[in-house]
Amino acid sequence: MTSYTSNELIAIADKVLLKSYAQQPIVMREGKGVELWDASGRRFLDMTAGISVCCLGHAHPRLASALTEQAARLLHVSNLYFIEQQILAAQAIVERCFADRVFFVNSGGEANEGALKLARRYQHLVAKQPERNTVVSTLGSFHGRTIATVSITGQDKYRAGFGPLFGPVEFVPYGDLDAAARILQTRQACAMILEPIQGEGGIVTPPPGYLAGLRELADETGTLLIFDEVQTGVARTGDWFAYQHDGVVPDVMTLAKGLGGGVPVGAVVASDKAAQGLSRIDGGAVPHASTFGGNPLACAAIVAVLQIIEEEGLVAHAAEVGRHLHDGLSALVAKYPGIAVESRGRGLLRGLALSRPAAPLMAKCRERGLLFSVAGGTVLRFAPALVVQKAHIDEALATLDDVLAEEAAP
Ligand code: PLP
Repeated sequence: MTSYTSNELIAIADKVLLKSYAQQPIVMREGKGVELWDASGRRFLDMTAGISVCCLGHAHPRLASALTEQAARLLHVSNLYFIEQQILAAQAIVERCFADRVFFVNSGGEANEGALKLARRYQHLVAKQPERNTVVSTLGSFHGRTIATVSITGQDKYRAGFGPLFGPVEFVPYGDLDAAARILQTRQACAMILEPIQGEGGIVTPPPGYLAGLRELADETGTLLIFDEVQTGVARTGDWFAYQHDGVVPDVMTLAKGLGGGVPVGAVVASDKAAQGLSRIDGGAVPHASTFGGNPLACAAIVAVLQIIEEEGLVAHAAEVGRHLHDGLSALVAKYPGIAVESRGRGLLRGLALSRPAAPLMAKCRERGLLFSVAGGTVLRFAPALVVQKAHIDEALATLDDVLAEEAAP
């Protein structure tokens, strides 16, 4: 392969890539654990992990060899046949959560699309209430970039210019149980979808009792409750899934990001009852499908990721290092009260909320070799690999401290 410099590659990108992204001026070439190196050999400490994706860190040797072995054996056959790794991946997921059944896709947006189709068809064919077609979602949410998932995303900037959108959709304030009750009690909704912690919206945790209250409302009104755990799932928050902190079980959960450790995967997981919404009836038409969903390579990744998280004790590790991170961020909040407002989140999904846009601070950290992403405009998001050590967190906090000191200087 021709070896270009970073600047040469960025110049080529300028000509050949469709310019939708706001990419930072670095070309990544290699990673190991929580470190990344760009095409000119510069080292970065990675507190982003591909936006909550690379849960085992970069180039985990066991994940790499599981993928290499699978690639040498069988990459793809389609869902015309049973696939060994797909069955084992589904089993590994249902063993760790409320769900009875899994449908595999390739991304978070696709998982949410599947969940919406499941909810509509469940009300239509199982509950025999086809008029229940409204989807209830929350303000500040993020559910993906397909036309239906931008339509249920509660932030205008993602929807602008794409109309007419999928609907009907009703938005309610996140955390407001009364507002949810007013809509759900009309019994027009097929489902309510929400993130147990809003990620892209700015690492927003719900008030105590909110998820339990929604569960009660959903039961009372026959509405399916969908938890979008695309960002919060797979040990990110210090439990296998974020709903487990509250002990509130949804009917459907969507997963992606960390599930493949960097390999593009997604899943709709459901209780037996809810799964009827996407089940084939009496040898009839196939209600939902995906060419690549659940393919052998993707599922070999899922099996390896879940096994490695288990064997390396990364669920408890995420909780413990997450507490350390929270303590460090709280100290920065105390030290820079005019700039740093709050440490929020859970486990290793944490935000430092600022009193100003976070992008300039993110850029200053990047210049010092530290990578973050921004959530909700004013929140610096920490979502490092679950293998991150306290020493890495301390290194990141020290850099952030320097940048905040510079920011606070008169
Ligand atoms: N849902 C949530 C909660 C997300 O955070 C994201 C991505 O950030 C998505 C859905 C969309 O996932 P994808 O980009 O894989 O389609």
